[in-house]
Amino acid sequence: MHETAVAQSLVDVISQEVEKYRGKPLRAKLSCGQLNAINDEVLSFAFEAIAQGTACAGMTLEIEHKPLLAKCRACGRDFAVELSSVRCPGCGGGDFELLPDAPLLLEQIEFEGTEDDEGGCRQEGAQCQ
Ligand SMILES: [Zn+2]
Repeated sequence: MHETAVAQSLVDVISQEVEKYRGKPLRAKLSCGQLNAINDEVLSFAFEAIAQGTACAGMTLEIEHKPLLAKCRACGRDFAVELSSVRCPGCGGGDFELLPDAPLLLEQIEFEGTEDDEGGCRQEGAQCQ
């Protein structure tokens, strides 16, 4: 399944980041386009299963679905395609080309305690004991 492969690579990538930051990861923010057809629930479920026993255990995923964009051939405007009315909002024309779908991206990883630094070490690789 597509989501399982995505979840596996997320766990791999986040684990590498966790090693660098030496913090506890709480949340990961992702974004993807419309054509990736990622199912949030299926992905979260697969991620949770794969993350068991790794540094990513207990993390939650937040997935933002970016709209599909098109460019109007008549007026050159970029707009988000809505399936209910596929018309350029600028000139009302129906002649447009679809722009490449947004890729699946890991946007951000939130670590515990990164907001308020309680005298912990900020330096990379520093000993914090
Ligand atoms: Zn237009």
